[in-house]
Amino acid sequence: MLTSICGINWGDEGKGRMVDLLSRDFDVVCRYQGGNNAGHTVINEKGKFILNLLPSGILRENVVNVLGCGMVIDLKHLCGEMERLRAGGIAISPENLKISDKAIITMPYHILQDVMEEDRLQKATGKPYGSTRRGISPVYADKYMKKAFRMGELLNPDLLYSRLSDIVDWKNMTIKAYGFTPVTAAEMREYFEKYGAPLKDYICDVSVYLNKAAAEGKKIMFEAQLGALRDIDYGIVPYTSSSSTIAAYAPIGAGVPNLKLDNSIGIMKAYSSCVGAGPFTCEYFGEKAERLRELGGEYGAATGRPRRVGPFDVVASRYGIRCQGADEIALTKLDVLDSYEEIEICTHYELNGKILDEFPFTDVLDYCKPVFEKVKGWNCDISACRKKEDLPKEALDYIALLEKLCGCRIKYVSVGAERDAYVKMY
Ligand code: GDP
Ligand code: MG
Repeated sequence: MLTSICGINWGDEGKGRMVDLLSRDFDVVCRYQGGNNAGHTVINEKGKFILNLLPSGILRENVVNVLGCGMVIDLKHLCGEMERLRAGGIAISPENLKISDKAIITMPYHILQDVMEEDRLQKATGKPYGSTRRGISPVYADKYMKKAFRMGELLNPDLLYSRLSDIVDWKNMTIKAYGFTPVTAAEMREYFEKYGAPLKDYICDVSVYLNKAAAEGKKIMFEAQLGALRDIDYGIVPYTSSSSTIAAYAPIGAGVPNLKLDNSIGIMKAYSSCVGAGPFTCEYFGEKAERLRELGGEYGAATGRPRRVGPFDVVASRYGIRCQGADEIALTKLDVLDSYEEIEICTHYELNGKILDEFPFTDVLDYCKPVFEKVKGWNCDISACRKKEDLPKEALDYIALLEKLCGCRIKYVSVGAERDAYVKMY
C-alpha cells in the first residue's frame, strides 16, 4: 500500500504533524524531494522537534525512514539534525534510516551561490525570489547539468576526489563573476570527510529495500516537504521550490518508479499562509494580518520569518487538490479560527471585472483581486474536541462548505498542534 501525504497550498499546512500522526499505521516513511529548505514542526510525547531533512517517521520506533533520490542533502545539516534528534532521545541507525545512493549532495558553494544571486537580485531588481538561501536551486541546477555529486560517491572517495578539482574550477568561474572569493578543492574535500564519512553506513540502493518492503505488503508513505503551489512546474514560478512537490512524482523521487500510488492525502490549512515573495491573492494586510499571524503562530520553522497570511483560498486550494490528485483531505489548524465571529473565505479571484474560478498563470495572478465572502464563526474553543459530535455546528458548516467548494472529502480535522488533537470525520 503506497500513500502520499502532500501539501495543497503554499506549504506549512501542518504536513509534518499529520505525517507524525498517520505514520503510526505505516511501516516506511520516505522523503522524495527537496532539501533542508523547509521545516516541519512535530510535537509529541517525546518533545518538540524541527525536521528539515529527516522524514517525520523518524520519531516512531518501528518506522523505517528513507531519503530518496529526488532529494538534495546538505551533509553538514543532516549530521547536525541527526545529532539534535539523538540528544532528544531519538534512536537513529542504518536500521531505521536509509539514504539513497542517488540522492544529490548540497555543497557549501551552492549555499554561497544562492546567497550571491538573491543579493544580486535584491540590488538589481529589488525583487529577490525569497529563497531560504540554503543552496537548493543551485544544487538542483547542477543536478540537471550533471555536475552534482551523489551520495553513493561518498562510498568511493578516490573516484569522487578525482572529479572534485574540475567541478571546483568550473564553479569558481561563477563565483568569481559575482566578485566573491573562490572556494578550494581542499575545503570541499574537508566537507566530504567531516560530514560525509559519518553517513556512509546509511547509504544504499533504497529501491531494493522499498521494492522488497512493498512486496511483503508493508505500508509505505511518501512525505512531501512543500505544497502544490511551490512545485517547480505547477507552482507560482519563480517563487517556488526547485523540485517536484507533486504526489505523482513521489514514487520516482523515493526510489520506486515501478510502483503506483494507492492514495493521496492532501494537507490543507483552514486559512492561508505563504512564506516569502510572490503572488498571494488572498493576502491580508495590517491588523487583520497581524491578528491571524499571531493566532496561527505563523513564523517559519526553518527561518523564523513571519509568514504572510490570509483567509482560506478556494481557487488556489481547488487547484492544489487537482495537482495532487488528492482522494481525501486533512484540514489543519481549524482551532486558529476559534475567536472569529465571522470568518472570511476567498471564493473567487477578480480580473478586470471578470470572475475567475480557475487558478490562473502566475503572471496573471499579479493582477487578480480576491473576492471574499463571510460565514458565521463558532467563536469558542474547539481545541479539546476529539469527536465529530464535539464540534460546534458552525465549525461543521465551515468544514462542509470547504468540502463542497473544493470537491474533496475532509477526513481529518486538526484542532491543536499535539499528536492527539484531531477529529476523524468518517
Ligand atoms: P509543515 O511544513 O507543513 O509541516 O508545517 P509547519 O510545521 O511549518 O507549520 C505548521 C505549524 O502549525 C507548526 O508549528 C505546528 O506545530 C502547528 N500546528 C499543526 N497543526 C496544528 C493545529 O491543528 N492547530 C494549531 N494551533 N497548530 C498546529
Ligand atoms: Mg513548514
